Amino acid sequence: MTDCEKARSELEEYLHNELCAEDVADIRDHMAHCDDCESEHHVGVVMMEAVQRACKETAPEDLRAQVLAKLRAIQSTH
Ligand SMILES: [Zn+2]
Repeated sequence: MTDCEKARSELEEYLHNELCAEDVADIRDHMAHCDDCESEHHVGVVMMEAVQRACKETAPEDLRAQVLAKLRAIQSTH
């Protein structure tokens, strides 16, 4: 496995703070001198933040609207 493959296979866990300190040091060290993995990491961070924001702000409202729409649809058929 190349350093890049190793870094990317661990990126997800790194983003979720699931790596041990030793692996965190490895991946940080690799990203410090590898632009490809650095930008891959950046994309991961942006995606994760977008998902977290969506979960916090958008999803509950959407979900509620969907549930209400479904309830109304069920009620209107009875
Ligand atoms: Zn790399």
